[in-house]
Amino acid sequence: MPLDIVTVPCLADNYAFLVHSAGTGATALVDAPEAGPVRRALADRGWSLTHILITHHHSDHIDAVAPLREEFDVRVVGAAADAERLPRLDLAVAEGDVFEFSGYEVRVLDVSGHTVGHIAFHVPERGVVFTADSLMALGCGRLFEGSADQMWASLSKLAALPPETLVCSGHEYTAANAGFALTVEPDNPDLRRRVAAIEDARKRGEPTVPSTLAEEMATNPFLRAGLPEVKALMGMPEMSDAAVFAEIRRRKDRF
Ligand code: ZN
Ligand code: FE
Repeated sequence: MPLDIVTVPCLADNYAFLVHSAGTGATALVDAPEAGPVRRALADRGWSLTHILITHHHSDHIDAVAPLREEFDVRVVGAAADAERLPRLDLAVAEGDVFEFSGYEVRVLDVSGHTVGHIAFHVPERGVVFTADSLMALGCGRLFEGSADQMWASLSKLAALPPETLVCSGHEYTAANAGFALTVEPDNPDLRRRVAAIEDARKRGEPTVPSTLAEEMATNPFLRAGLPEVKALMGMPEMSDAAVFAEIRRRKDRF
């Protein structure tokens, strides 16, 4: 039985995701920014929540765990390394762990950088990865806790997944990210096409998330920091991939 994935807009610009198996009736929520929209998305479909998967400790990703736990008999999964900053976990996981959701393997990747203890959930058979504030559409999360080296290692891990993988990230920041990406690679034809498509989608009020990893590899300046053409454009032809990534991240912080 395939897994359905539903994008749930929450708060001003967050995305949560519902992952549902019609076969077993199991439904997982990835991140819990706000209970109301999640409740409505479940009720509209007649689904009941069975799991909550948490990516990292920021309040815009965990605030609705407690109210949803009161309403539903849920199993909450999150990073063992960050357990003291997360709501109570029923399953504490770490890099390389694999757990089962409704007959599907869910693989845990440590993608620290935005926070230390940020994890991503990869479901290989469904071809989807939930990245929240690590790899984002045309962007990556700000380095609040981790180092640029850590984030570069995290992005490199995600970049090694199959190119057709769907990237479900945590915010609608894509239009602002697009403006910055064009300052790094103004003549990248894939980027220019994607930016036009993003502008159209936003005019129609449609989300720009999820994207595919292939799209991100072709257009996301943070993932492209190791390419000779990007190093040249940055004026850093001899520098390491991580150093170029760090400089792109610094420029974005000031953008
Ligand atoms: Zn965050
Ligand atoms: Fe966030």
